[in-house]
Amino acid sequence: DPLPELQAFLDELHQTLASDLTGDVAHYIPELATSDPHTFAISITTKNGRTFQAGDVDVPFTLQSVSKPFSYALALQDIGCAEVLQHVNVEPSGNPFNSIRLDEGRSVPDNPMINAGALVVSSLLLGKHQEKAFERLLDLLQDLTGKPPRINLNVLQSENSTAHRNRAIVYLMRNLNMLDQDPEKTLQLYLQQCALEVTCADLSMMAATLASGGVHPLSGQRIFDPAVVRAVLSVMYSCGMYNSAGDWGFRVGLPAKSGVSGGLMAVAPGQMGIAIYSAKLDAHGHSHRGVLACQRIAERLGLHLFSAS
Ligand code: GLU
Repeated sequence: DPLPELQAFLDELHQTLASDLTGDVAHYIPELATSDPHTFAISITTKNGRTFQAGDVDVPFTLQSVSKPFSYALALQDIGCAEVLQHVNVEPSGNPFNSIRLDEGRSVPDNPMINAGALVVSSLLLGKHQEKAFERLLDLLQDLTGKPPRINLNVLQSENSTAHRNRAIVYLMRNLNMLDQDPEKTLQLYLQQCALEVTCADLSMMAATLASGGVHPLSGQRIFDPAVVRAVLSVMYSCGMYNSAGDWGFRVGLPAKSGVSGGLMAVAPGQMGIAIYSAKLDAHGHSHRGVLACQRIAERLGLHLFSAS
């Protein structure tokens, strides 16, 4: 049982990486450029709800793309897997997360972890819940974190006023009949979801809920069906880490998702959720320290899914 040493290991890991300010904060959303690059947090929650933490675990940051597995899970849960699959594929795209390249022949986005796919998921949630769609997401976040969700209005406004590319993608998809809801409302739902704030402690609890097959480690509430969690983790494994998902799967071997604000979550199924926050990003767009910390945790605890032990 490596857990007794885990706290000491995390403290040491945090200390080792604390001075590593390699990378750059995201600039294309102007408000994100103001993030404090020194903030650094690591949090692990086991499926039984034990937590191990180091650093600034209570500092909020916006979910950005780390929200995508959860909106996808919500769509699978509320609409059903078969229906969702007709609108969003589960194939790694090999294209950037904000790619505007659409396969007009097939008429579905490659996967729900890229923006095109996440926007279609938003439109599915809108179709299902209409004006209650965002509330549904807020309720989900509340169930996952155990506290009232908060939205960062500065980030929302900042992204909204510069979201030309996402706006182009959603209108183009509307034109191609890849979604049937109002493109502007669809975009707003997506941007709101990206601007939801969590702390690193919250995010490890969210990851731990996925690690335990959809049951919240503290409240015991079943939030997602096991089949939904399996689907989400599969897509996170193949598509969750931008264009280095293959490399990540090879080295770390855990389903994971990162976002441009510098949040990263990884899931060790049946074991624990891991979350890291550090705003400076590497060339792939992942939190630089997030990747290093997660790699070392996975190595130390022997978490790679395909390591026989
Ligand atoms: N809101 C961001 C966007 O759509 C999220 C990107 C990300 O975190 O990868 O551009």
